[in-house]
Amino acid sequence: MSVVPVSKNDEVVVDIVGLTHDGEGVGRADGFTLFIQGALPGERVRAKVLKVKKQYGYAKLMEMVVASAERVDAPCAIYKQCGGCQLQHMDYAAQLSWKRQHVVDNLERIAKLRVAGDGVVAAAAGDGAGVGASVGTADNGAGVGASADGVNAGVVVHPTIGMDDPWRYRNKAQVPMGMEASGLIGGFYARGSHRIIDMNECLIQHSSNDEIIARVKAIGRELGVTAYSEETGRGLLRHVMARVGVLSGEMMVVLVTNGSKIPAVERWIERIRESVPGVKSIVQNVNTRKTNVIFGDETRVLWGSDVIYDELDGIRFAISARSFYQVNPAQTVELYRQAVDYAGLTGTETVIDAYCGIGTISLFLARRAGRVYGVEIVPEAIEDAKRNAELNGIGNATFEAGAAEVVIPRWRKEGIVPDVIVVDPPRKGCDAELLETILAMQPERVVYVSCNPSTLARDLRVLEDGGYRTVEVQPVDMFPWTVHVECCVSLYYYK
Ligand code: SAH
Repeated sequence: MSVVPVSKNDEVVVDIVGLTHDGEGVGRADGFTLFIQGALPGERVRAKVLKVKKQYGYAKLMEMVVASAERVDAPCAIYKQCGGCQLQHMDYAAQLSWKRQHVVDNLERIAKLRVAGDGVVAAAAGDGAGVGASVGTADNGAGVGASADGVNAGVVVHPTIGMDDPWRYRNKAQVPMGMEASGLIGGFYARGSHRIIDMNECLIQHSSNDEIIARVKAIGRELGVTAYSEETGRGLLRHVMARVGVLSGEMMVVLVTNGSKIPAVERWIERIRESVPGVKSIVQNVNTRKTNVIFGDETRVLWGSDVIYDELDGIRFAISARSFYQVNPAQTVELYRQAVDYAGLTGTETVIDAYCGIGTISLFLARRAGRVYGVEIVPEAIEDAKRNAELNGIGNATFEAGAAEVVIPRWRKEGIVPDVIVVDPPRKGCDAELLETILAMQPERVVYVSCNPSTLARDLRVLEDGGYRTVEVQPVDMFPWTVHVECCVSLYYYK
């Protein structure tokens, strides 16, 4: 039995050896692991122990003994209180390489994949099947050969694609509302709690969204609007969502209310229209449930259009309030181009886009494929997807609302034979049933777009066991200054 060498309230000097998936420094004090918020790998810090468990503990950063060369001053004034960003104290280039490494670690630990050029793997790959060869073959689309021969030089994980200007990238803000003595406030939940702190500016948010939220709060205060309280279940305004089409400049405001009646609704609408000239759509969503899920089931347009438009790589998209739309449009274009590239299309292929949202990836694919079938669980998003195909004169894309794991098995029975399946699931990854169906349908290629490296790795293992080889992984930085990383992965059927 090992003895825990530290106790609560001890002050210890700790060497930081890594970063957890949620951005805490991993420290070692006498061989004991301490998680320390705000500490970076390579640093030596003095820290006070907050909590001790059998295998590890938590400590608070008190003083820097040796700082990392990758440490920078966080530019945001509320960084320490707010839970939204986790890596503002880390140089941007260092973030990008940490994100790549985080993906590599998941592929190795969870998917049990060999990653080309990574430690032991590099040595193994040295015997004839060079790492370079794998990159080369994968690039020209004939990478399967290497795997089919049983020569596996390892998965190529490319450097993370970063942004030239990694600020103000978010096109959507969802702001919880609260009350203070002075009236309505809105901002963010303090790190690790549900206490709302008022906020006027978020440095990763498009400035139009900051402006809309500020105006809506001011109007709410003027009209004496109450904010919903999670404790009492009373009060009207729960959240305000603002979304801007970054290329079109069109804006949507969604008022999420506890109850369907908004007092003086006409004045609300008038005041919002007056003070936010770009607003094209004002929407109400009713959520009366005691839950921390933001949206309820009832959505209605209070004024203007039910959608705003935006454009990605020359394709126009109508986006309604409840539809998922990627939050960082510049990086989304990078991601989708990569997905299309990995799909290896010549113009004749049948492609399935699972978890298609408003048909964004589907329409990128449709420009290069014979036929595309998209499936998505939110019916409003499928309505948007159909409208988007029409809007862009794209006639070879078909969309269906439903769960991917239900609809795609049915498509299989109906005789649809895909050459490529693209999946882009939410954080929890693909449903097991869907993975089974992919293995049964055996498309030549699978493109896996993921916002969560650990569920990605879990699912890749299933696909690998079913005969697929993971060839390349392209991490894309969709969420600078946060720990999140998006990946696009190419797989081939090799048996
Ligand atoms: N590919 C789209 C959307 C990706 S987000 C884009 O890039 O914009 C994941 C999407 O999966 C969301 O739109 C969500 O509503 C949808 N979804 C969640 N569970 C699903 C399921 N079981 N079947 C189909 N779609 C699902």
